[in-house]
Formats: sequence, structure tokens, C-alpha cells
Amino acid sequence: MKGAAQFRGGQCLSESLVKGDWRGKLRFRCAFGHEFEASPRLVLEGGHWCPECERKSWNYGQRAKVDPFFAQVWNPLHEPDELREYPKEVTELDI
Ligand SMILES: [Zn+2]
Repeated sequence: MKGAAQFRGGQCLSESLVKGDWRGKLRFRCAFGHEFEASPRLVLEGGHWCPECERKSWNYGQRAKVDPFFAQVWNPLHEPDELREYPKEVTELDI
């Protein structure tokens, strides 16, 4: 999980993982310093990452600079200096 977190530009803060436990929550920190909890299943299989970054805006250009996983889908399609950030008008929490 530590390697997976680094691949997203962040860190896995949890020091222990129950082997084979895909549902237990681990603690992570994203590249922008937000801390959150997620299960290995959510991160590895679901492709989820920092809920704070997802909620606030589409800061895709900034994320691509620090998140190798994200960069591999963003960089081929955008200029390196393209750092548009799209504030979200609604979040899933409002629904
Ligand atoms: Zn974040």
C-alpha cells in the first residue's frame, strides 16, 4: 500500500496492514496534505484517492504534477502548463 500511495503522489500513514484485509481502513495523506481514510479495496480496485481533492474542485493540472497515477492519463492529453482548475458547483454531499 505504501508503494500505491507514493504512486498517487502521497503517503500511506498506517504502519500495519492485516494481510488479506481489503476492507479495513488505512490512513493516507495526499500530495496536498489532506489526510483521509480508505480501504485498500477502495484505493487499489476502485481507483479512489483523496476525497478532499475530489470534492473541492477539478484541480487536474496540479494533481498531474504530483500524482504519477493521474499524470499518466492527464499528460498525454494536455499541455504541461495547463493548470486550469474547475471549481465544483455541487458536490456529492449536497445531494
Ligand atoms: Zn487531497
